[in-house]
Amino acid sequence: GCPGRLLELKGNIRVLCRLRPGTPSSLVSSEPGPGGTVTTCYRGHQRRFRLDWVFPPDASQEEVFRELEPTVLSCLRGYSVCIFTYGQTGTGKTYSMEGPPEDPGIAPRALQSLFREMRPGGRHCVTLSMVEIYNEAVRDLLAPGPPQRLVVRQGPAGQGGLQVAGLTYWDVPNLETLNQMLSLGRSNRATAATAMNQHSSRSHALVTLTLRAASPTRGSGTAGTLHLVDLAGSERAWKAGAACRARGDPEDAQRLREARTINRSLLALGGVMAALRARRPHVPFRDSQLTRLLQPALGSGATVVLLLQISTRPEDLGETVCSLKFAERVG
Ligand code: ADP
Ligand code: MG
Repeated sequence: GCPGRLLELKGNIRVLCRLRPGTPSSLVSSEPGPGGTVTTCYRGHQRRFRLDWVFPPDASQEEVFRELEPTVLSCLRGYSVCIFTYGQTGTGKTYSMEGPPEDPGIAPRALQSLFREMRPGGRHCVTLSMVEIYNEAVRDLLAPGPPQRLVVRQGPAGQGGLQVAGLTYWDVPNLETLNQMLSLGRSNRATAATAMNQHSSRSHALVTLTLRAASPTRGSGTAGTLHLVDLAGSERAWKAGAACRARGDPEDAQRLREARTINRSLLALGGVMAALRARRPHVPFRDSQLTRLLQPALGSGATVVLLLQISTRPEDLGETVCSLKFAERVG
């Protein structure tokens, strides 16, 4: 065998797993580091899951980013990179992706690292867009004025791929402007959230940076993209439904609909990643807005990183096993 070929067959999907700190662990065991494992025992069934990397509960934000930095920087050479945080609500997806100001997560570190590598006054131009997907509606978080609902449609014939009609792209000349835009996007998300039952855990948030080589002499037209995606909580629909019923919540139907939509879009993401990994001729991109939107970013040549966040609390064990099974299917 030829090792290069094997690598190619495995595809460019890497699955990393981060254990949430806090409570005594309900896992049977875990081996941190590259090729690490997590072993669970659920309903009398012991299972061992192998991942590309396991971060123990005491892993720092810096350690997590160190594993991702080379991938992030490959955008500067024209690669497409997608980083997702996946897991049940409360397991640390937003903590890993955004982090508190005093201990920033992947997104701020990635942007800082990219801008550090780009020469001052240099060869790249950077554009930013930011959307949220809630109940299969795509909303532009950087539109001037109130957040706009967008339509994803087929791009012009011959150009292939999909386009988001009317999506706002901002040119970002420096890190400072970028950070201002990001906090604008975040606050647009939060404004909507108070009116809609703090839905941040029920919506997907996507930050997209496009880096285009500005010099016509050096590979003009090569654009690298970085998508940073904080996914909605992966907890299964029956749980949200049951919680509503237990509380006698009148918004029962709405909640259940939300939960089902999320489950469906995460299932679609899993289906797309599994099809890409297996090199199947048909990749079901059209099954959700999330996968339609990311279609150009997930295709051949793209690097996809799934950061699986898991809880170690005994009461979450069922969800933890589900998350690990998802990882097993796509990685
Ligand atoms: P999610 O986005 O998956 O719903 P959050 O990122 O909001 O979860 O995390 C839930 C809570 O746990 C937050 O208060 C967060 O600060 C805390 N948390 C998560 N992961 C860590 C970690 N690695 N270290 C310290 N606190 C964490
Ligand atoms: Mg969150």
